[in-house]
Amino acid sequence: MSYNKKHVSVTLPGVRGLSSSSGPRVCIVGGGPAGFYTAQQLLKARQDAAVDVYERLPVPFGLVRFGVAPDHPEVKNVINTFTQTAQHERCSFHGNVNVGKDVTIDELRQAYHAVVLSYGAEGNRSMGIPGEDLPGVFSAKDFVGWYNGLPSNKELRPDLSCETAVILGQGNVALDVARILLAPVEMPRKRLTELMMKAAKEGGDDKAEKCWGFRFFRNPVEVIAGADGKRATGIRLALNKLEGSGESARAEVTGQLEDVDCGLIISSIGYKSIPIDPAVPFDPRRAIVPNEMGRVQDTAGLYCSGWVKRGPTGVIATTMNDSFDTARVLIQDMEAGKLDLSVNKPGAQAITALLQTRGVRTVLFSQWEKINAEEEKRGKFLGKPREKLLDVDEMLKIAWS
Ligand code: FAD
Repeated sequence: MSYNKKHVSVTLPGVRGLSSSSGPRVCIVGGGPAGFYTAQQLLKARQDAAVDVYERLPVPFGLVRFGVAPDHPEVKNVINTFTQTAQHERCSFHGNVNVGKDVTIDELRQAYHAVVLSYGAEGNRSMGIPGEDLPGVFSAKDFVGWYNGLPSNKELRPDLSCETAVILGQGNVALDVARILLAPVEMPRKRLTELMMKAAKEGGDDKAEKCWGFRFFRNPVEVIAGADGKRATGIRLALNKLEGSGESARAEVTGQLEDVDCGLIISSIGYKSIPIDPAVPFDPRRAIVPNEMGRVQDTAGLYCSGWVKRGPTGVIATTMNDSFDTARVLIQDMEAGKLDLSVNKPGAQAITALLQTRGVRTVLFSQWEKINAEEEKRGKFLGKPREKLLDVDEMLKIAWS
């Protein structure tokens, strides 16, 4: 898919944050949809269970905050459900904890009866073609993170002054990126996908300031550098054709090449999970934590849900269903005696104390609410729902103020 300015071709009671239940204690790694849906189901199914969610960032909600496009505000309403879960008396949220670095999975397993890995897919698939590291080439993951205010992408500064952008891929994320590139800077309230599709079907509008289109049967073979070799100025595509028919139809190269001049290249060929702790099994080929119905292979008491369980596909509803499945399996294991619940586990009290010795201070949900209030206040001033904070240090300052 490319885009062109004139033409886009393509718990302790009373103490929030520490729970005192003597029932099963479960730890969840990752405060995105998978983490919150798993927590929600566990809390509902076991009235004696306490669940602590550890999140790398000082802010919760994962890709709902940092992935879902800003012109899909209705999708972001799931945050209300996650907030109810986080505010549940047997749930606690601990942000600013990078599991695998600040605390190991083995340490969490000692402090809890069960640990659920719900840390998503923060890696990026590479195209494996010459020139893909040139300035002007971005992964959709970073580009999406940039327009959604992800602190690690705040310095990305893509040059949007070029005439043509090419997006490689045509999944939901590629369409999000195209819509955002085509949108006016002051984000329109209305969903743009329908309008984009209408314009594409009708052959575009001559008066449109920006236009776009699909180019099928092409795969990238090389990023073309400018004369100084310092910047991407185009992309070389191999033209393909379909061989065979029905389910056996395959795209085969024709030997023909096509060069497209462009100043911005965004590769949208998928996210991938990465290993966060050497003690956890990881399947590098599928880029997931190997599991059977959410039970991590060969590791009793360790579970997974969401994108790290099944790979980076599916919408929030898919993630919800698979997280509910993992929670059900975990409860079954508790009830079948596969997890030793006879021993009391210290949970967040022990982990928070351990983190303190390492100079790591957590952000509790009530502290995130201060960040949230500040963002909403700044947004109101600018006439929008929120103005996200981009700097982790500033987030922490506000959270702990
Ligand atoms: P994530 O949402 O990625 O959550 C994982 C969490 O784990 C993150 O908060 C992360 O910070 C945290 N984490 C990572 N590493 C660590 C660590 N070491 N220690 C502690 N915490 C850690 N779905 C829809 O239904 N509608 C949409 O419009 C939509 N748009 C999307 C747009 C984009 C660009 C993308 C990428 C996805 C979109 N989705 C959409 C899909 C949806 O976002 C996913 O299904 C869902 O977010 C997956 O949930 P998850 O919890 O597995 O992963």
